[in-house]
Amino acid sequence: MATTPTIPSVIIDNIERVRAQICEAAATSGRSGQDIRLIAVSKTQSLAAVQAALSANQEDFGENTIQDARKKIDHLLNNTAVWHFIGHLQNNKTKYLPGRFQWLHTLDSLSLAKKIDGCLGKSGQTLSVLIQVNVSNDPDKYGVDNNSLPELIETILNEDLKQIQLKGLMTIGKLGASQSEQKTAFDLLREQRDKMAESFELPSFTELSMGMSGDYLLAIESGSTMIRVGSRIFGARNKPE
Ligand SMILES: *Cc1c(COP(=O)(O)O)cnc(C)c1O
Repeated sequence: MATTPTIPSVIIDNIERVRAQICEAAATSGRSGQDIRLIAVSKTQSLAAVQAALSANQEDFGENTIQDARKKIDHLLNNTAVWHFIGHLQNNKTKYLPGRFQWLHTLDSLSLAKKIDGCLGKSGQTLSVLIQVNVSNDPDKYGVDNNSLPELIETILNEDLKQIQLKGLMTIGKLGASQSEQKTAFDLLREQRDKMAESFELPSFTELSMGMSGDYLLAIESGSTMIRVGSRIFGARNKPE
């Protein structure tokens, strides 16, 4: 017998459990659960899994490759979802963003920003963009380092790219880091966001995409506005093809 995929009712229960935890963690930090957007990371999961999450009124979904994302986005009949691209994006794949994704969490170079802006210009669509920061200087991670962040923002703003709206910062927690190391990294990202919003006078530079299945409660404590949760919602990931 083939292995059974995570059944829809389990996905719905998981989403409800995560939502309740978000509200609880937010309240503990004097925040409202509504200020935290739950992104269901559906990478490697099936279209049926996405449909199950949609039936629980899940609005935001995250994917990390264009190929895998298209298997779902391009086949949804009533695509009312908001799609977030959270993987490393190669310059030659930017053409697949318009009409599919509303958010990109992983901008880390001026050349990528220009390429995306060019692709979006043709469709007239705008994209909400977060800059990925490698706050913990992890050699295995993409993202700009802390010191290069102001210069990247400055050069992007100087280009006056009309289709790109800079909305904040994103980071990926370091694998195997202790709770306190993780907390330090999350706090640093929040400080960076505040500093950048102030020095570049960007009132809508408000988002902080941080926290995954293993550390979202900690991230909420540090001010996360978007958590990216995969396995806690959909169960174990399928093997990529
Ligand atoms: C896979 C992935 C996630 C979700 O990971 P889980 O640990 O399954 O919640 C979040 N963010 C990024 C960038 C990812 O690639």
